[in-house]
Amino acid sequence: MDRVDALVIGAGVVGLAVGRALARSGLETIVLERADAIGTGTSSRNSEVIHAGLYYPQGSLKARLCVRGRAQLYEFCASHGVAHRRCGKLVVATSAEQHAALDATRAKAAANGVELQWLTPAEAAALEPALRCSAALLSPETGIVDSHGLMLALQGDMEAAGGALALCSPVLGLRCAADARDAGDAGDGHVVAVGGEAPMELGARIVVNAAGLWAPALASATQGLAAQHVPQGHHAKGNYFSLAGRAPFSRLIYPVPEQAGLGVHLTLDLAGQARFGPDVEWLPPGALDAIDYRVDPARGESFYAEIRRYWPALRDGALQPAYSGVRPKLGGPGSAAADFVVQGAETHGIAGLVNLFGIESPGLTACMAIADEVLASIG
Ligand SMILES: Cc1cc2nc3c(=O)[nH]c(=O)nc-3n(C[C@H](O)[C@H](O)[C@H](O)COP(=O)(O)OP(=O)(O)OC[C@H]3O[C@@H](n4cnc5c(N)ncnc54)[C@H](O)[C@@H]3O)c2cc1C
Repeated sequence: MDRVDALVIGAGVVGLAVGRALARSGLETIVLERADAIGTGTSSRNSEVIHAGLYYPQGSLKARLCVRGRAQLYEFCASHGVAHRRCGKLVVATSAEQHAALDATRAKAAANGVELQWLTPAEAAALEPALRCSAALLSPETGIVDSHGLMLALQGDMEAAGGALALCSPVLGLRCAADARDAGDAGDGHVVAVGGEAPMELGARIVVNAAGLWAPALASATQGLAAQHVPQGHHAKGNYFSLAGRAPFSRLIYPVPEQAGLGVHLTLDLAGQARFGPDVEWLPPGALDAIDYRVDPARGESFYAEIRRYWPALRDGALQPAYSGVRPKLGGPGSAAADFVVQGAETHGIAGLVNLFGIESPGLTACMAIADEVLASIG
């Protein structure tokens, strides 16, 4: 059986960032991806926003890793030629009743070390004349990034450090070291079963489960990991609609946050094309077996009313179904947003195994800080 120092399962933005960090720390590393390309999952189905870190509870992994990851990401994009823009964003209240929520967001952001400016309607209109609001918060640190360019740059950096990417390599399961020794395998290390056209087993001292939506399923297929350490995954689809024609905004526009998402917001891509979303559509258990990423045009109806609260001039018929992504959540409808889980030996007792669960937004922003956290967890 071939052995390497480290195996990372999943070549989304997080798996690639982890693979890069492991390779750069001098470990022989392979990233295993079941698809025939990098980043075909959630990492290419999101808003591509570099979040400032406004919304997350103080001290949470989401707060810490978003703030640190954002700084790392801007630096990485600048030094590696990854297209991005620090365009800023406005969080808008459209009635006085929402000012308390805006104030709470400002307090949360301040606790996370993120400064926001409170704008009057006139100040907001001076920045974005098409906007209607009763107050707004300006986040100058928010930006946008070309997520695919980012993943290619992470892959390139990983390969330059000696790491390798193996596509079409679905991981079927793994046996953790204690089991491997019991089974009489030589040496220490975990054993990863890889399917595909040339099935094989690979040994590694370090295994990182960065399988995104499938991370809990993969953890369930991990011999030696007690079932109590495998969380129940929940899945919330987010649908986007694109705008026909140019949007009269140069910053991202967000309503005050709602429970399972950030509300139907306006984001811009680097070409200036506007899209609205994502909404929240909870998927039934088992939906991961065949995810239907198509966007139901009927869902657009509710978008109009929500968007017109802050952009009354939105024309009838201006929205077209665009794309969707699925959030890997750790709580179901009605439950409070869960934190990222970076689960290492201190929790499950298996040296060298790290499971990443619930890496929803702001996982793109935080990818490099998550990678640092994984390295710290391995010790
Ligand atoms: C609608 C939506 C909007 C979002 N917007 C933002 C945003 O604006 N900003 C932000 O910071 N974050 C955002 N996010 C979050 C961000 O997209 C994710 O946190 C991030 O992409 C997660 O990356 P990942 O590598 O963990 O997962 P993924 O991208 O899902 O990658 C996991 C990979 O693992 C592979 N895999 C799975 N099982 C196996 C297996 N058994 N063997 C081998 N490979 C396997 C999959 O094929 C996949 O390529 C958003 C998410 C959603 C859903």
